Amino acid sequence: MAKDIDWSSLGFGYMPTDYRYNAEWKDGKWDKGGLTKDSTVTISESAGVLQYAQTCFEGLKAYSWQDGSIVCFRPDLNAKRLQDSARRLLMPEVPEEMFLDALDQTVKANKDFVPPYGTGATLYVRPFLFGSGPVLGVSPAPSFTFRLFVSPVGPYFKGGIKPLKICVSDYDRAAPKGTGHIKAGLNYAMSLYPGDVAHKNGYAENMYLDAATRTHVEETGGANFIFVTKDGRIITPKSDTILPSITRRSLVYVAEHYLGLKVEERVVPFEEVAEFEEIGLCGTAAVISPIGRIDWKGGSIQVPSGMDEMGPVLSKLRSTLTGIQEGTIEAPEGWIRKIC
Ligand SMILES: *Cc1c(COP(=O)(O)O)cnc(C)c1O
Repeated sequence: MAKDIDWSSLGFGYMPTDYRYNAEWKDGKWDKGGLTKDSTVTISESAGVLQYAQTCFEGLKAYSWQDGSIVCFRPDLNAKRLQDSARRLLMPEVPEEMFLDALDQTVKANKDFVPPYGTGATLYVRPFLFGSGPVLGVSPAPSFTFRLFVSPVGPYFKGGIKPLKICVSDYDRAAPKGTGHIKAGLNYAMSLYPGDVAHKNGYAENMYLDAATRTHVEETGGANFIFVTKDGRIITPKSDTILPSITRRSLVYVAEHYLGLKVEERVVPFEEVAEFEEIGLCGTAAVISPIGRIDWKGGSIQVPSGMDEMGPVLSKLRSTLTGIQEGTIEAPEGWIRKIC
């Protein structure tokens, strides 16, 4: 029986559910791992995660389909990306099969928390990995925890999709050749202050430029850019210092193979931004959020698609990808993992 939750009034926040998955790594190997009802974590006061921020995470969603099944979208890519993040932070990799098994077990055990088809709400899944054993000198933790919990979240856009006003940040999102490509709390911690500055100035997000030259578009704190040219091509920034968004990679495929659009993944000079017809941000949370205006110290760009609604090309991309995720449009081979 579905829980008695008002799905339409849910926002994006943590709601503890009945079960979560936990596994421990020690002496070179993972233990068996399994579900627990305990929503708290007890660790040493000197845990690697607390002292030196040795932690990384993932984010994906489970969807209810019209036929009642529950599915996830390309979770194998989240598993691989968590491994990339783990390697850069000197943490043990979670094997892909173990990641997918944790996902299956946890979503199944909490299936009453998966919002029904048609509500626009979804079950957000948060896998994460952290140094749980004690350190004092700077070194990787001696033991690690992999955990995965879920939380129902509401439709991202309540009351329609409104284009955002963003600004070019004076801060860098990540070190020039450092850690920009991994999904780590430390990058988010560093983005809190610049995010607060942007919000206080009336902007929804920061556009970060590349830290090395400050001439190329990178991404925002938590989403990649996708641009549409006046002649209907899709352009998306190529950089090893941005997070490889699974939504962006999927949209690129959808643009080429479902909509027959030309796609260019390349360096995007900031000067070029004023020439684009439509601009969007992409990530798991919103799929695509449109941008209507971009301000910086030297001026302001009014995106031609305007401040009232998402432009036609991004709208088509968005509805095609959400159709694939919700099971109303046939997915490419291997994109959908049926959980139950
Ligand atoms: C998670 C994340 C994204 C979006 O990635 P998806 O896989 O599409 O959810 C983009 N940028 C950053 C910095 C992120 O952490």
